[in-house]
Amino acid sequence: MIRKSVVAIICFTLMFLVPAAALLAEVSANPTSGIYHNARCQHYGCKSCTKTFKTAEEAKKAGFRPCRKCGG
Ligand SMILES: [Zn+2]
Repeated sequence: MIRKSVVAIICFTLMFLVPAAALLAEVSANPTSGIYHNARCQHYGCKSCTKTFKTAEEAKKAGFRPCRKCGG
């Protein structure tokens, strides 16, 4: 009985943590400057940052480079 509820809690936590982690890995890119920012950067989601990539790696592949302040 107890074990079942522990498993349920773990599953429940993971369901929330996984999307949260995915969201943190997301970067917003500015096609004008060719720079991308991570979610913790003050420039993340700026007016000119019209593109979003799931990971920094994807942004790099698309030809963007990391922001100097946040490291992308
Ligand atoms: Zn930045």
